[in-house]
Amino acid sequence: MTLSYDELRALDARHVWHPFTQAGTAQPAILALGARGSTIYAADGREYLDLVSSWWVNLHGHANPAIAQAVADQAGRLEQVIFADFTHEPAARLAHRVCKRLPGDLNRVFYSDDGSTAVEVALKLAHQYWRNHGQHRSTYIAFEGGYHGDTAGAMSAGHSSGYFGAWKEMLFPVETVPFPATWNGDETVEDKEQAALDALDLLFAANPDHVAAVIIEPLIQGASGMRMCRPDFLRKLEAKVRDNGSLLILDEVMTGFGRTGEIFACVKAGITPDLICLSKGLTGGFLPLSVTVARDGIFEAFLGQDLSRAFLHGHSYTANPLGCAAGLTSIDLLESAACQQRIGAIEAIHRRRLDGLKGLSNVAHTRLTGTVAALDVIGGGKGYEAGIGPKLKAAFLERGLLLRPLGNVLYLLPPYCITDAELERAWDAVDEVLRSLA
Ligand code: PLP
Repeated sequence: MTLSYDELRALDARHVWHPFTQAGTAQPAILALGARGSTIYAADGREYLDLVSSWWVNLHGHANPAIAQAVADQAGRLEQVIFADFTHEPAARLAHRVCKRLPGDLNRVFYSDDGSTAVEVALKLAHQYWRNHGQHRSTYIAFEGGYHGDTAGAMSAGHSSGYFGAWKEMLFPVETVPFPATWNGDETVEDKEQAALDALDLLFAANPDHVAAVIIEPLIQGASGMRMCRPDFLRKLEAKVRDNGSLLILDEVMTGFGRTGEIFACVKAGITPDLICLSKGLTGGFLPLSVTVARDGIFEAFLGQDLSRAFLHGHSYTANPLGCAAGLTSIDLLESAACQQRIGAIEAIHRRRLDGLKGLSNVAHTRLTGTVAALDVIGGGKGYEAGIGPKLKAAFLERGLLLRPLGNVLYLLPPYCITDAELERAWDAVDEVLRSLA
């Protein structure tokens, strides 16, 4: 039975519960019929340039033919297999490929399904690592404003982001220290970094031999407003965590796979965490998949002769072969000279266009790391419901641009396949809308 677009929309409105959406007031969802490259095609004939890479997952454009082919080929061979007692070629190869690009002895890949579960795995691994060493460590330290996902442990680590007030009673306590967000020309940067390090010192001193791990979104705190810190701070943070004998978890769910201009933020900063969480761009945006990668020493602490030391955690679709096949092809594409050229070109366009907005009275804190550009819009309110954000989103949708401000923070995080002309068109519209509001 073929359904009309109106009938499909009616089915959606009646039966589907959309994320981060107040169904009581939301406009009907846009019905996407297909997508190619950076463009999403809607049922009403409109086209949208995807400047948020569909929640930061899409690296090489929608329906990338090479990834689509790899997934189709894999589906014809092995679509899924239980991942205890069994393994398969895409999982082994993808683990190897990811480890090859990570620094130091980050050699052990634990697969799960999305960014949140990658973080849950890291938090649980850290806890059990210490237990297997005969220590009880239950203090975790996170950064103010950090967002690590929507499952209970990830919400606990991200409790200060402001997203999780409604679930306070469900969360375990996590200490926080300030995130040293800095902007171009910020003269207070050293002070901010020192304040964060001092706050860490206090927490380490108050919890001797009790801090299981420190978790951070390196270089860019995403959901709290694309707040950026310096690579230098990450080096100081790593040294502080080492001095105090704890573990460092990097949540690179968003920053991984080229977003910062380097393959990983940890590579850009020249640090080696104990655990790293990767997802989003891992499959190029095709399928939900994530990895938590551990250093050799972490894995070794779980070895023994019985299950008591083992990591008793897993998910039904752990290491799904389709996701792993997509991941392998996505990394091939990412490593190509053409993709590396695009990443550099996107950064250069972002920089020039941000510079062009600096004089506007309603623009502050223009900032850039790799392919992620952001700015604060002044005036009109910061609220997610009634502030300037929803108005901007509507103005851009009207112009065929998918941009989703975080409160009053406007950011562009496009797929790497975006052409110069498409990106310039997006910035032209940003320029026009911001000038009309100034
Ligand atoms: N960690 C970071 C840094 C994120 O940005 C996100 C999602 O935006 C997550 C974790 C959670 O990932 P997911 O939505 O795939 O569960």
